[in-house]
Order: sequence, then C-alpha cells, then structure tokens
Amino acid sequence: MQLGGESYMSSTEATKKRDFVLTIEGLTVSFDGFKAVDDLNLYIDKNEIRVVIGPNGAGKTTVLDLICGKTKATSGSIKFKEKELTKLSEYQIVREGVGRKFQNPSIYENLTVFENLEVSYPKGRSVFGALAFKRSAEVISRVKDIAKEIMLVDFLNTEAGLLSHGQKQWLEIGMLLIQDPELLMLDEPVAGMSARERELTGDLLKRICANRSVIVIEHDMEFVKAIAHRVTVLHQGKILKEGSMEAVQKDPKVIEVYLGH
Ligand code: ADP
Ligand code: MG
Repeated sequence: MQLGGESYMSSTEATKKRDFVLTIEGLTVSFDGFKAVDDLNLYIDKNEIRVVIGPNGAGKTTVLDLICGKTKATSGSIKFKEKELTKLSEYQIVREGVGRKFQNPSIYENLTVFENLEVSYPKGRSVFGALAFKRSAEVISRVKDIAKEIMLVDFLNTEAGLLSHGQKQWLEIGMLLIQDPELLMLDEPVAGMSARERELTGDLLKRICANRSVIVIEHDMEFVKAIAHRVTVLHQGKILKEGSMEAVQKDPKVIEVYLGH
C-alpha cells in the first residue's frame, strides 16, 4: 500500500482538496488472516449524515470499532480533522470529540433521566467521582437542553429503566450529545422502534447534524432514505457502492448482494 504515494494521490485528487471531518485511507483490519475491513477509504464531510448499509458480516460495526479505537487497525489511517486516531486510546478518541453509540443501550437503569445525563456531562468525570460533584447551574441547564433535544424533558425524574425501548435509545444519544461530539456514530439506532419513534429519531438526527457529522449503520431502508445525505454500501470489508440513496438503490451489484434479499 502506498499511502500518500503518487498512484494513490491521483485516484483521490478531487477528495484531497476538501476539508473532511473524517478521512479514512487504506484502512485494514485482519482477524487471524480474515480481513473484516479491507483497504477502505471513507471521507465524511462536516454536517454530513452518512449511512452505512450492507449485509450481515460486511464489516460495518468493525469500521465503527476501528474509528472509536475499540479495535486496532492492522494498517491504514483514520484522521479526525488533523489528528491520527489509530495512535490514540479509546478514551483519548472520546476526548477528541468522537462519540459512539453501541447497538444495546448502555444507560443506568436505576438512575433517573436527569442523573444519566448528569453523569455523562464531561465535568462529571472528576477525581471526586461522577455522582459526587456539585450540580452547578451550568450542568442543570445543559441537562435540560439535552433532555428537550431528545424529547425526554417530561421524564427528567423518571428512572431510566421505566422508559420505552425507543426512549432508552434517545437517552443514550443524549448521553453522547451532552459531551458535544463533532462526530457521532450510531449502530442500528432504530432497531426495535415503533414507526413513530423511527420518524422522531430521524428528525432528531437531522437536527443534531447542524453542529456535527453523524455516521449511522442501519438496515431500515425507509429510515435510511429519510436521513442519509450519502450512503456507503459495504460488502466483504470493501465499498461496493457510494452515493445518493437513489444511486445506491438502483445499482445492480447492490441489489444483488443486499437490497434484493
Ligand atoms: P456487520 O456489522 O457488517 O454485520 P461486523 O463488522 O460485525 O459486520 O463483522 C465483520 C466480520 O468480521 C464478521 O465476519 C465477523 O465475524 C468478523 N469479526 C468482527 N469482529 C471480530 C473479532 N473481534 N474477531 C474476529 N472476527 C471478528
Ligand atoms: Mg453490525
């Protein structure tokens, strides 16, 4: 592989000139010789909602694992603005402004919505312990703003365990938003949601991308159509097709390996 080499430059000359939030080039991860992600190039714009689709096992979740540092790359580069993420720990990557939501919500079921947001507030992670710090006016006002954004302002004192499945997903998105990430990554956020909850989640993502870029992995094509600025189709660790939803939907290769099923 020739990162930055002549042959590489020529193929991506147009994209190189732009100011991407995330620039992934030549990214490969090999698990015992099996390449789950294989020489991937991916460029995400500011304020973009990018949806990644593809059959099970295509490598979608692994791409997010690589970006957030949960999995270490075998080779290649992941640049978040000017920072090379492949050299950083998971914790440092969060500090740089990358938030990631996993498939199963990791909220504190026995804490209220308010408390869940409060412990996620960046200043809460002090040496005195997340719950021991004083509720400053700043924290309270930020928690309320986020609760409004995620449609849970009437549930601030409700124990998170009592929320609906969809509301739990929103709470976890809120726990990421309160850290104000510049890049937010969501793995199948509307799985198991009602039609109404899916619609509200789409509206939520469209609102929050005004201040950040969002990468979403999703199978629900109606939802993808509603939110995606661009769609990347992954297959066997490689990009099969990338473009608008319309372009992707009518691509014969995409229909054959994914949409046709
Ligand atoms: P997707 O999210 O597109 O369904 P994944 O990224 O979860 O796919 O997985 C891609 C492939 O990589 C699968 O074949 C999976 O079994 C494999 N894989 C993922 N993580 C690991 C790991 N830590 N060790 C070994 N194989 C893995
Ligand atoms: Mg997955």
